[in-house]
Amino acid sequence: TSTPGGEAARPFLRVCNLVKAFGPFLALKDISLDVMEGEFVCFLGPSGCGKTTLLRAIAGLDLQTSGGIEQAGRDISLLPPSQRDFGIVFQSYALFPNLTVARNVAYGLESLGLKRAEIDRRVADLLELVGLPDQGAKYPSQLSGGQQQRIALARAIAMSPGLLLLDEPLSALDAKVRVHLRHEIKSLQRRIGVTTIMVTHDQEEALSMADRIVVMNHGVIEQVGTPAEIYREPATLFVADFIGAMNKLPVRVEDAEHARLGETRLQCRPHALDPGAEATLAIRPEDVVPVEGNGTGSANRFAVTISEMEFLGSFWRAWLAGPAFGAAGLEADFSVNAIRRLGLEEGKQLTVELPADRLHVFAGAGVDEDG
Ligand code: ATP
Repeated sequence: TSTPGGEAARPFLRVCNLVKAFGPFLALKDISLDVMEGEFVCFLGPSGCGKTTLLRAIAGLDLQTSGGIEQAGRDISLLPPSQRDFGIVFQSYALFPNLTVARNVAYGLESLGLKRAEIDRRVADLLELVGLPDQGAKYPSQLSGGQQQRIALARAIAMSPGLLLLDEPLSALDAKVRVHLRHEIKSLQRRIGVTTIMVTHDQEEALSMADRIVVMNHGVIEQVGTPAEIYREPATLFVADFIGAMNKLPVRVEDAEHARLGETRLQCRPHALDPGAEATLAIRPEDVVPVEGNGTGSANRFAVTISEMEFLGSFWRAWLAGPAFGAAGLEADFSVNAIRRLGLEEGKQLTVELPADRLHVFAGAGVDEDG
């Protein structure tokens, strides 16, 4: 990011070499990250990867073991939460049950010594902003989970914080409400422009809401990128495997653009692995292309049999078996059109192509799930 003058824009939030130890266990191992002003960033990763620990360190709720945090040019590394400038929403709604909705939202504002009328006006604006006008007199228990979470959001932004922190805010809600609230939170964030960090283990949530996703695993950052980069250009096998569906095939590297799958030589994306190295080829089911006619002579084409067809609404996922794929098989997503045109069904034989530019090559034989 650069300004019209050409200098790099200064990040709004800067995390430098952050380490967090719990006894001998390192929950965060040397994390560095820049977040720009107004960005919506998601921390995404499996349970225990350290995303909540990182969020809590940024909030000052847990102190890091070493490393620093800067916000708006200010070193906040050692400040208590009360002296940092953020609003936070947790997974559990954490509203005060004995206060009305309006008093919940007004909570922080009341401590500013504002006039009653001014507070009432701001609370009305905030309730309007989260789509719950006229609900101020109710108590939290009279609202649905989704509504309570919107109130929690209103409360978190009431003081116009520089930073909005969201710790799995949607995970306690049912699927329909969750998807709806995704859009609402995202559009609210755009309108008020607050720099936002959200922790989630839900890849779809991260892909649909984030400007940039930080994928974490075992206390390290695996990749930082836009949703499209993370999905289309995964930097590691872990990222490739964690986000979306991915076929993985064990191969041996031949040269910078070729690998051998059993007897078959495949052209793949350029990589830097050494010839002879064990590697994993990864391709998304939707990148597997059915070929009309019989073109197995060309590169990267395989004769396969459909062993199972799985209906997934807008598309079908076919399990393809073929000598080259061994027991693993291959998953391929076919649109309804392709199904009709090619007459695909269980037992059918066909040819598929694995396009070289969609064949990612990663070091090693597989993903190490826990360490
Ligand atoms: P989840 O989605 O399950 O919350 P997470 O990615 O947010 O996972 P963290 O809560 O940040 O994970 O925890 C990271 C690691 O640190 C985990 O292995 C966890 O067991 C450990 N951990 C977290 N808090 C403590 C603590 N207070 N004492 C000891 N270990 C802890």
